[in-house]
Amino acid sequence: MPHRLLGNNQAWARATKARDPGFFTRLAQQQTPRYMWIGCADSRVPANEIVGLDPGEVFVHRNVANVVVHSDLNALSTVQFAVEHLKVEHIFVVGHYGCAGVRAAMRGLRVGLADNWLRHVHDVRLRHRKRLDHLPPEQQEDILCEMNVIEQVGNVALSTVIQDAWARGQPVAVHGWVYGLRDGLLKDLQVTMDRTETVVETFSAAIKRYRRVATATGTEALTLPDDDD
Ligand SMILES: [Zn+2]
Repeated sequence: MPHRLLGNNQAWARATKARDPGFFTRLAQQQTPRYMWIGCADSRVPANEIVGLDPGEVFVHRNVANVVVHSDLNALSTVQFAVEHLKVEHIFVVGHYGCAGVRAAMRGLRVGLADNWLRHVHDVRLRHRKRLDHLPPEQQEDILCEMNVIEQVGNVALSTVIQDAWARGQPVAVHGWVYGLRDGLLKDLQVTMDRTETVVETFSAAIKRYRRVATATGTEALTLPDDDD
């Protein structure tokens, strides 16, 4: 019921002010977050709470399955504002296990308009199918959650915004994390990128941690062939 939420808000504002009388005055003047969070829209993964940060400390962009696409002006504008105006020093791409978007992409489920968005995750699956297809189904979903984060870290790093920032010597690092709904813990996927020269090497090292096994059946999904020649 909406009025319950408004009541909650009044209680929260009172408690926050009692704990720190200058809190709202300070925040109203300006935000100076050092961190940006790119995460899933899932209600169980609230950015600030998980990492123990207050309002004003993390700049957030969320969408279904934490995807960063080079033509998504919404995400790219947010990254640009964070990097060029707020001067954030760390960008975290945060996936989570049990992600319904990743599951739909893994199983080829139709969910609606989001199918077109999740095609990006599906593409990640196809690109790395030799590291996925040999695993039991539950593990495939967890590993695809991780691989999706690794791919999106690469996409952020190769965006014009981050490339330009690094070219002018601005320190900003892009990290990949995955969150466990069962234990509330974040895992660092060791795919931190902080300069152009090491993007490819870091990406390859992260992906190669997953064993590659050529399977006889391969994927059954309809896909365009790899360009192997
Ligand atoms: Zn999700």
